[in-house]
Amino acid sequence: MMKIFDQQEIWFVTGSQHLYGPGVLKQVAENSQHIASALTSSKNISINIISKGVVTTPDEILAVCREANSSAKCIGLILWMHTFSPAKMWIAGLMALDKPFMHLHTQFNAELPWAEINMHFMNLNQSAHGDREFGYIGTRLRKERKVVVGHWATDSVQIQIDDWIRAAMGWHESQTLKIVRFGDNMRQVAVTEGDKVQAQIQFGYEVHAYGLGDLAAAVNEVSDADVNAQIDLYKQEYEIDESLFSDDHQLTRLKNDARLELAMLRFFKAGNFGAFTNCFENLTGLTNLPGLATQRLMSLGYGYGAEGDWKTSAMNRIVKVMSKGREGGTTFMEDYTYHFGATDQVLGAHMLELCPSISANKPRVEVQAHTIGCKEDIARLVFTGKPGPAINISCIDMGNRFRIIVNEVDVVNPPENLPYLPVAKSLWEPRPNLSVSGAAWIHAGGAHHSVHTQGVTTEQIADYAEMADVELVVIDASTNIREFKKELRHNAAYYALNQGI
Ligand code: MN
Repeated sequence: MMKIFDQQEIWFVTGSQHLYGPGVLKQVAENSQHIASALTSSKNISINIISKGVVTTPDEILAVCREANSSAKCIGLILWMHTFSPAKMWIAGLMALDKPFMHLHTQFNAELPWAEINMHFMNLNQSAHGDREFGYIGTRLRKERKVVVGHWATDSVQIQIDDWIRAAMGWHESQTLKIVRFGDNMRQVAVTEGDKVQAQIQFGYEVHAYGLGDLAAAVNEVSDADVNAQIDLYKQEYEIDESLFSDDHQLTRLKNDARLELAMLRFFKAGNFGAFTNCFENLTGLTNLPGLATQRLMSLGYGYGAEGDWKTSAMNRIVKVMSKGREGGTTFMEDYTYHFGATDQVLGAHMLELCPSISANKPRVEVQAHTIGCKEDIARLVFTGKPGPAINISCIDMGNRFRIIVNEVDVVNPPENLPYLPVAKSLWEPRPNLSVSGAAWIHAGGAHHSVHTQGVTTEQIADYAEMADVELVVIDASTNIREFKKELRHNAAYYALNQGI
């Protein structure tokens, strides 16, 4: 059936053995097929779950794992031991497997038939110990995997399965993503730098730089008719004062950004890019730093990082893929300024470039003076972030490894209108509070840039980090600084040992 992720699939593989005879194996196969079909039909699941039948020998297990490795559509496997499946049979297959897998610890039957239960029932429904035998070998092989426990037909288990599927989609995107950099990083800035070769080894994504002349050439190819059609689109999607259209200067500025948007969109499509960066220091040949244009491209699903920040741009795109079809937007973000008050708050914004997917209401197009780095009047979308739980995600290069930092926050409504602030913004209260969160973030080396999202959970980012084999630290309601610093030191030792020489 048509799913949100209609180009990929998850394979459902059930383990058993020949001890029980063909009658039981036939039943196991039917039950396995039934669960895969039910998951695919569920509104909770965003991808087709393909039943790959029952495996009962080391050769069958190795074959399905190799087939998964070489399948372009398969982004991960759900493994379940309906009965006992002696786990030495899984060693070769699991060692060969290079796709993420979830161990679904479930049982076909929900409630026990107390009055009728006999040894046939017990032998058919024995994942309670079959899955433990399988779990041992996963741990013995040091395999990172998701373990979900509970009855497969419940919403709670299905949502956990889908959360993980989305993390696997993020990992799939990470390995196929191409990022275009227009110009280089902002001069002298440290945290936006990093090892692009190591990033490609670790995350899979490619980062490619282009000169501004290449983009300027694409801009010059955009026709006036296309620009005018784009202005009509803006009229439908955003609040725009009529006076803007009778002001030649403002209208020209709006058209500049329409032209930049269309040019970048064509550039991305021609080069198969899913994310981009630019920098206000590298604008030769362009009318201005793209404002509205960048905001619109983010809302179409492209990742963005300002000042050449390709790590944040990549994460932005990956999180947008993970949250596709779910409520809650995802944007490039910067901790901008603080409110120290009864509850300390962070006002997040950027010079221009927040994605309107986080907006509480219809964004408004304004042409305002850009005052930092380059002095131009630039069209931009102005809005306020929607209240509710969110997470901020930063990915940094530690020199010998990457680290992902997550802070759980609560977005709140600003107490007043901010009539003189001509950019999009969001106000939040970090957990557990700014005092602890700010110190922990700084100790962890988190960037001033982040990906701010209401569409994925901390656990999904943890699943993604495990798939990438990258360190994750979380700042949440239970964080205290002493323990957090200890965690950073322990992680340093763990990753040094885990990576070897
Ligand atoms: Mn910035």
